[in-house]
Amino acid sequence: MDASLAIRHVIYKHFNDPDLTFTNDQVLDIMIKDDMVEAACSVDDVEDDFQNLCRAGVVRNIAQNFTTMYLKLFTPLQLVQCKECGQIPLHSEEPRVCIICGVSVTQ
Ligand SMILES: [Zn+2]
Repeated sequence: MDASLAIRHVIYKHFNDPDLTFTNDQVLDIMIKDDMVEAACSVDDVEDDFQNLCRAGVVRNIAQNFTTMYLKLFTPLQLVQCKECGQIPLHSEEPRVCIICGVSVTQ
């Protein structure tokens, strides 16, 4: 699974509450435990994916301690359906296009 999609699925399933603070380490632990990425995957390997999520306005980085990012959602993620890629978690302000293949998606 694409790492940025895996991150979104983990956030959707485990941290989908704007009042919660969670870290990139927690998200990565779940991604590895659930076999969404290889066990050797490190926080450095997915740093760009987390930065992209911040840039997309999905999460904000509220604090940083070495490689640990403390993150909060702006709004809960919602699942939309891409015909090619399956379910994609997007937040309410994001364009309704699949983050993997770029086609329009429906709720
Ligand atoms: Zn797609």
